[in-house]
Amino acid sequence: MKLLLTTRVSPHNSNVVESRCYVVKQFLTLFLHGASENCNSQSLKEGACVHCPIIKVGLQHDLYLNNNLLSLYAKCFGVRHARHFFDEMPHRDVVSWTTLLSAHTRNKHHFKLFRGIALPNVISWTSLIAGFAEHGLVEESFWLFAEMQAAEVQPNSFTLSTILGNLLLTKKLHGHIIKSKADIDMAVGNALVDAYAGGGMTDEAWAVIGMMNHRDIITNTTLAARLNQQGDHQMALKVITHICNDEVKMDEFSLASFISAAAGLGTMETGKLLHCYSFKSGFGRCNLASNSLVHLYSKCGSMFNACRAFKDITEPDTVSWNVLISGLASNGHISEALSAFDDMRLARVKLDSFTFLSLIFACSQGSLLNLGLDYFYSMEKTYHITPKLDHHVCLVDLLSRGGRLEEAMGVIETMPFKPDSVIYKTLLNACNAHGNVPPEEDMARRCIVELDPCDPAIYLLLASLYDNAGLSVFSDKILKLMRERGLRSRPRQCWMEVKSKIYLFSGREKIGKNEINEKLEFLITEIKNKGYPYQENEDKLYHSEQLALVFGVLSVPTSAPIRKNKNSLICTHCHSFIMLVTQFVDREIIVRDRKRFHFFKDGQCSCRGH
Ligand SMILES: [Zn+2]
Ligand SMILES: [Zn+2]
Repeated sequence: MKLLLTTRVSPHNSNVVESRCYVVKQFLTLFLHGASENCNSQSLKEGACVHCPIIKVGLQHDLYLNNNLLSLYAKCFGVRHARHFFDEMPHRDVVSWTTLLSAHTRNKHHFKLFRGIALPNVISWTSLIAGFAEHGLVEESFWLFAEMQAAEVQPNSFTLSTILGNLLLTKKLHGHIIKSKADIDMAVGNALVDAYAGGGMTDEAWAVIGMMNHRDIITNTTLAARLNQQGDHQMALKVITHICNDEVKMDEFSLASFISAAAGLGTMETGKLLHCYSFKSGFGRCNLASNSLVHLYSKCGSMFNACRAFKDITEPDTVSWNVLISGLASNGHISEALSAFDDMRLARVKLDSFTFLSLIFACSQGSLLNLGLDYFYSMEKTYHITPKLDHHVCLVDLLSRGGRLEEAMGVIETMPFKPDSVIYKTLLNACNAHGNVPPEEDMARRCIVELDPCDPAIYLLLASLYDNAGLSVFSDKILKLMRERGLRSRPRQCWMEVKSKIYLFSGREKIGKNEINEKLEFLITEIKNKGYPYQENEDKLYHSEQLALVFGVLSVPTSAPIRKNKNSLICTHCHSFIMLVTQFVDREIIVRDRKRFHFFKDGQCSCRGH
């Protein structure tokens, strides 16, 4: 040790210095190796002693020595000291990072693996980044990413998905981009948009898009598809404007996303414009766009157009047929849905689990109990498709609509899935519709406590069941519980598209003086004068649906049907109100509620009171 300490750096004789440094370096390396192999309090002291001569001989910039010293610190002093030393190191390389990582994770295997690689490539960088992220070391993980970019190693899709799979990392990356004011790499930008929009953080996604100097069709399609997933179809349609501004060409994926958005909203006019675009740009030949057109028209309640769009498909695939069958079923064309299924089999197109979901749904809508049961049991036996939870929900719906409540409950008890709140809601809805006895208290408790204590719909359903059975004590109890838990029912909304603009009617509005209310009052007086049985709403407020109906009568041309969409089930009061109105107002009114379509004409509805 003394020998080392006497070594001095002389600026006048560089050759001597170099050779001395070499010897010193070799010695120190050997020494450090020895110390860290037999890690004890003695070696700690020795390690600390070595640190000084390193600085004295001017070797503090030597990466190799520093890495060895870091390893000693990590092994003997613990992570905190190692981290401190690491921060002081003038240069760091992958070995430094892995040493620190291994100190953090004690993952020797990982450490050795990376150390053997002389020039780390994108895969080794990424696995290291992922290693840090997995252990919650967000800072370190992000530093590594920055270091990787500094080393001019381009991140691949796995690197990006690693970073963006972690929300904290995503935010750090975003912040880093803002700070550096550099142009965002398109792949990084697109991945950021995907991560934010997928996590429901739409504002952040828009902010990233605003910062990108270059955007391509993937940027826009990603955003539109994610917005659709979140149910924000209106915003998804707005992405079209951005595509026009960016002067990028729409592809079949983006077109399909926009058509889905129009379908989600049930906006026929916008949908038709997209149909025209699809035809003119030659996307009519690709199934992705064509299938979404069939879906669009079914969702707008126009099976005539949906069938025409289906006929335009040269080679319908499984999705095309599925969309057609489920469209026919939800529009109440039950026998057409069933014969479409026969045609699908004749065309030898592969059936899948969704085909059967639509079929059983069709049977349940058409009260075809036995046929529905046949389809359900043939799934596994004949077609080797295992029924999923959704199919069991449909089966419960089928059985309970047919009045076989005990069997329906049996399905819930014996099915190989944990029942969810949807299946219980289906059962309760059926009980409600049939005026059946409410379920025993035990089941009510299970519905509320175990399944989805945050879903107000279950509380309301149960309360109304008990009410109808004359057990208002129970219903009061349930409503009280709901209030205590701070739950409120989702605002009921009703919307319609007039001249490509969407009008929203929400909640229950106070009776005021404006054109719509006056017309509504006029209609109600008319109904009463003609001697029809009209009952005031129990809460003396107009429902959003009534207001939307009047708005439609006033603003939609008389030749066209009035199309309305609802986010909940249509209430019985509004249902009978619309039936009465169509008795003396010669209009066709189409309402799409959460579950199905109602076509009102001449005082009748296609659902026949379902
Ligand atoms: Zn209503
Ligand atoms: Zn109806």
